[in-house]
Amino acid sequence: MSISSAWGLPTGRWNLYNAHMSEKCLKCFRPVQSCYCSDIHPIQTGVKFIFLMHPKEAYKQKTGTGRLASLSLVDSEIIIAQSFDHNKRTQQLISDSSYFPMLLYPGKDAHYAESFDFQAQREGRTLLVFLVDATWRLARQMIFRSPSLQKLPKLSFSHEYRSAFAIKTQPEDYCLSTIETSYYLIKELQKSGICHTEADPSGLMEVFQKMVKFQEDCRDERLGRGPTEPLDRSLKD
Ligand SMILES: [Zn+2]
Repeated sequence: MSISSAWGLPTGRWNLYNAHMSEKCLKCFRPVQSCYCSDIHPIQTGVKFIFLMHPKEAYKQKTGTGRLASLSLVDSEIIIAQSFDHNKRTQQLISDSSYFPMLLYPGKDAHYAESFDFQAQREGRTLLVFLVDATWRLARQMIFRSPSLQKLPKLSFSHEYRSAFAIKTQPEDYCLSTIETSYYLIKELQKSGICHTEADPSGLMEVFQKMVKFQEDCRDERLGRGPTEPLDRSLKD
C-alpha cells in the first residue's frame, strides 16, 4: 500500500503535493513553486537586523520566515546556533563600537520600540537588533544559554499584534512569525524616528501573505478541497 492510499489520499493529488515540495530554491530554501525571491524588494531601514536561528528551525520550509525577512532587509544577517556566547560573529557584533545592540525580547525591563529614546542611548551608533527566529520554547532555551544576549538592553512592542499565520496549529506558534515581527518592528521604530520613514516594509507582509496562501492551497489540495479564497488581510496598524 502506498503512503497516499494509506492516508486515504488520491494518488494524483499526493504526487502533485510531493512535486511542490521536492525542489528547493537555493536562495530562500523554499520549494521552487513557492519561491518568493522575485517578489522580494530590498528595504533600507537604517537599522541592522540579526536573525538568530536554532539549527532545528533553520531549514524548515513551513514556519521559517526569518530567511525571507533577511532577504528583504538590506542590512541583515542570519546566525545559526543553539547558543551564542561562543559564536564568533555574534560576539563581534556585540563588541563592535559602531553598533548599539539590543535584543528583541519581552520582559519587564524591555523598552518599547515605539517610544524608547534611542537618540540619547545610541550616541550616533547604528541600532542593531537581534531577533530570535524560533518557536517560543526554543527561543527561551537559546536566550537562557546565552548570557551575553541576556545582558543586552531589551526591546519589545507597545501593542499586541495577532499573527495571520492561519496554517500553524501548535499553541506555541500562535506568536508572530519572524517576518510579521520584522514588519511591526520597523513600523514602531519609524514612529520613534530610528528607522527611515521612507522605508516601506509592506513588501514583507505581501510576501508573507503569498506564503500563507500557498500553504493553505497545499493543505486544501491534500484534503481534496478547492483552492481557498485569496487572503484579505489588512496591513494597517
Ligand atoms: Zn527563492
